[in-house]
Amino acid sequence: MNRFLTSSLLVLTTAFFPSLTAGMEIHVGLYYQKSLSSILFSASEGCYLFYGDGQLLDTIQTHESVYLSVVDDYVSVNHTGDQSGLYRQVYFGDMNDNGEFLLRPIDGNLEARSYHGHISFVADLGGLKMINRIELEKYIAAVVEAESGNQATLEFYKAQAVICRTYALKHLSRHASEGYHLCDDVHCQVYKGKLKDDPVIAEAAQATRSLVIIDRDSVLITGAFHANCGGQTVNSEDVWLQARPYLRSVTDPYCVVRNNRTWERKIGLDEWRNYLIKTGFDSGTAVSPPSAFRFLQEARTYLYTVRNHSIPFARIRNDWGFRSAFFSVDHAPGGSEIIIRGKGYGHGVGMCQEGAMQMSEEGKLFGDIIIYYFTDVTVTEFERLPPFRE
Ligand SMILES: [Zn+2]
Ligand SMILES: [Zn+2]
Repeated sequence: MNRFLTSSLLVLTTAFFPSLTAGMEIHVGLYYQKSLSSILFSASEGCYLFYGDGQLLDTIQTHESVYLSVVDDYVSVNHTGDQSGLYRQVYFGDMNDNGEFLLRPIDGNLEARSYHGHISFVADLGGLKMINRIELEKYIAAVVEAESGNQATLEFYKAQAVICRTYALKHLSRHASEGYHLCDDVHCQVYKGKLKDDPVIAEAAQATRSLVIIDRDSVLITGAFHANCGGQTVNSEDVWLQARPYLRSVTDPYCVVRNNRTWERKIGLDEWRNYLIKTGFDSGTAVSPPSAFRFLQEARTYLYTVRNHSIPFARIRNDWGFRSAFFSVDHAPGGSEIIIRGKGYGHGVGMCQEGAMQMSEEGKLFGDIIIYYFTDVTVTEFERLPPFRE
């Protein structure tokens, strides 16, 4: 990180985090890149202090709504007719820290979502920029739910919570130029509003409060994860070019009994031949007898090779939209199709979610799960780290 970024992050962090312990808050950009021009804010629970350009305009009681839309560079607000106006910035502050509000987009087909915390609105390039200020642990619980569903056990959710928290704290400056920490989309971590009624996930976030994963240099790790590795995870450089000492391939006996362990696709022989030519195989190799296309990938291999020609499995996966790059190519004698037999679901780097779920069901604890999938790492409290290491 360069000096400029370090100092701007310090400024940001001082402003956002008066204390690094209790009550740590994170600022999330909502409906990222959706360019909404109007939305309805409703107080579902609690009361909200309603500010326009820093001036207290009103108190929004439970079940009251405010309509917001963009007019030029301003946010136009309409609240029961008597509090209409144009403002540079509109802010709703949760008065007693127990509120819940609903955002209902008016244009487009976007879903309404419920949130905790506070929210600000400014006009930005014809759309509303919405920033949700939310307690870190509430945000983590909501992200864990969005990234892993509601079917797992406590220790799995704890591992996922530590990974999501590590990601959040490692990337606090990702959207600094836009005035917030993280967006709510896959670009950062998926955040669809508050945690639904799932006490197990809420407990997982609270029980691992402030815990993060660091590598052997005490730097927060990139905590990659995916649905199912098919029995072996992948070295990071085989997918993303960048080698990380903690993202090493490990064999995984746990996920091979789970839902996404295998998949299959059939492709016409001619289609497969044409594809190989398109990717640079010479036509002589591409018209080889079908048996030449067979390739058994028992352990993870980087390249699919036919005679002297090769192509990365990861590229084939992308081109065909396969569930994983961990597959064998087969052909039945006399058949007119290539049969792709695959294992796993996802890129295969880092924690295998289904393997982690299986480990937790077999009695393993979240710390066991983390050190199984990430090599040479330590789980520690964020507060113990030297400041702002990335
Ligand atoms: Zn983002
Ligand atoms: Zn696995």
